Amino acid sequence: MSDDATTEIVPGWETVIGLEVHAELATATKLFSDAPNRFGGEPNTNVDPVSLGLPGSLPVLNEQAVELAIRVGLSLHCRVQRSVFARKNYFYPDMPKDFQISQYDLPINEEGWMELADGRRVGIERAHLEEDTGKSTHVGGGGRIHEAGHSLVDYNRAGVPLIEIVGAPDLRCAEDARAYVSELRSILVAIGASDGKMEEGSMRVDCNVSVRPVGDAELGTRCEIKNINSLRSLGRAIVYESRRQVDLITAGERVEQQTRHWNEDEGRTHKLRSKEEAYDYRYFPEPDLVPVDPSEEWIESVRAALPVLPRERRHRLAEAAGVDTATASLTVERGMDDLAVDAIGAGADPTRVLVHVENNLADGAGALTAASFAALVAMEVGGDLTATQAKTVLATLVAGGGDPAAVAADLGFEAMDDAALESVVDDLIAAHPEDWAAFTSGDDKERKKKSGFFVGKVMKATSGQADGRAVNEILARRAGA
Ligand code: ADP
Ligand code: MG
Repeated sequence: MSDDATTEIVPGWETVIGLEVHAELATATKLFSDAPNRFGGEPNTNVDPVSLGLPGSLPVLNEQAVELAIRVGLSLHCRVQRSVFARKNYFYPDMPKDFQISQYDLPINEEGWMELADGRRVGIERAHLEEDTGKSTHVGGGGRIHEAGHSLVDYNRAGVPLIEIVGAPDLRCAEDARAYVSELRSILVAIGASDGKMEEGSMRVDCNVSVRPVGDAELGTRCEIKNINSLRSLGRAIVYESRRQVDLITAGERVEQQTRHWNEDEGRTHKLRSKEEAYDYRYFPEPDLVPVDPSEEWIESVRAALPVLPRERRHRLAEAAGVDTATASLTVERGMDDLAVDAIGAGADPTRVLVHVENNLADGAGALTAASFAALVAMEVGGDLTATQAKTVLATLVAGGGDPAAVAADLGFEAMDDAALESVVDDLIAAHPEDWAAFTSGDDKERKKKSGFFVGKVMKATSGQADGRAVNEILARRAGA
């Protein structure tokens, strides 16, 4: 995606990253049975014969899970298609059937893309449905299986519907990877597909990393890193793994394709196993389920019901404000883009609107309306309020609403009239002749320093009532006279 040299983690080397994100779908029940899909709860209470894999039990596909998967596919600009469930065979104590029902060669969603906040696109290879496993707890030995005295297993999560979103190897640095996961999470939450909580494990990221000399066309051998529980760990793991692979190659060794485990406390990855190949899983079509073939009408009705997605919201605000989408993104993340677009529509200066959202509305807009926001910005831009006063008025509007002019008057924020301000400035010039001389005859740097000095003195003398820009205008006029 980016050839920018500043993205290099090790100089001269390019890191290539592709992410596989598993998200638990926000259905009422499990993928193939009516056991509840619920986080928490006493172990082994949200179970039934299907999620326990009891002999004779049969899966019945959850329509809501398919609909959520279609929403994901459409939001990621994928082709939504006829799909087939497959058995992926492997043994794990938290997977009672000894196979996982997944999708293999015919996933429900294929070949899409997602746009990052700065406008760059990342390919989406596929987004398929599968069931989650249960959870093992290894007791004793620091929670690790080989040193544990015994293990407990909880099947509450077994059979919970997952969407696995496989991204193309288009990412080049830790920041890109974090931006990708954040954007994906915003989309999943916006469409109601998942709660996107990494800390509760409802969104899990496996990270594939390889390195190659800058300019090489061929991809290097990759390692897949598991157990990444936060965006911070994701970034750290990518940096660690890139360096480890470059060190191996520069020492004349080769990178082995492996599955590795991120250890947050040690800040490093460990080998779990050599990478398994598809044939190790002996995939075959699931005989107990028919193919899923959603009709055009169904797909189109799902599309029609989708909310406006973060990407479109960024573009809408960027256009209204005359800025790029990266600049618009924080306002969208904070959910204040409607407010901002409306305030700008009511005539407010776009730059001031975005600055206020970023710096002064981090805790929400509360009772602030677009009309009062626009009126406040107009007072500020017109010189009736200083930036500091505007911030105070804004906080009052957020807390209790109201008319900005009335709030400003209540707070005693009368604009200083020009004559009064000029006389304050003149007194200060007279009181500090050396600083004034430095201002009038100094170079740009000196002039800037001294203007800061005089503005500071004026603010002190007027208890912050003066407008800094007006002071600078007076200083410039006096220096020119
Ligand atoms: P598998 O089926 O073995 O998991 P895939 O080809 O489906 O392998 O790739 C899985 C993930 O690995 C994808 O997210 C993809 O972007 C990423 N990936 C593939 N090759 C590389 C590579 N050389 N370096 C980094 N990531 C890669
Ligand atoms: Mg994989």
